Amino acid sequence: MTIFEKIARREIPAEILYEEEDFLVIRDINPQAPVHVLIVPKKVIERVGEAGPEDARILGKMLAASGNIARRLGVYESGYRLVINHGPDAGETVPHLHIHLLGKRSLAWPPG
Ligand code: 5GP
Repeated sequence: MTIFEKIARREIPAEILYEEEDFLVIRDINPQAPVHVLIVPKKVIERVGEAGPEDARILGKMLAASGNIARRLGVYESGYRLVINHGPDAGETVPHLHIHLLGKRSLAWPPG
């Protein structure tokens, strides 16, 4: 079971900021920006490239919620970045799909 599944089941602690039927929003334990949260589906999809048509609804819900999450976190106006890492070169470390939402600092482009 992944760390995020355990967090969703309340088996290990996390700062859960927001929860919907299909996903959670948690504070990243090792933040890379003053605002760094993870939008995590309750369903285990290992990584974004493995998502299938049956996952389109939940992925859409997570993306569609990101604007409201950014508003709650005070970064809607200043800007924020959504990141999904797939595989080693992207830096994926937890094999349970999640969307990073980062903000409250100027983020470099292109990413490192
Ligand atoms: P990835 O590198 O897979 O895209 O992102 C995994 C993220 O999960 C990292 O930013 C890491 O800091 C975060 N993370 C890893 N373990 C935990 C944990 O136990 N709790 C929380 N809240 N975040 C975690």
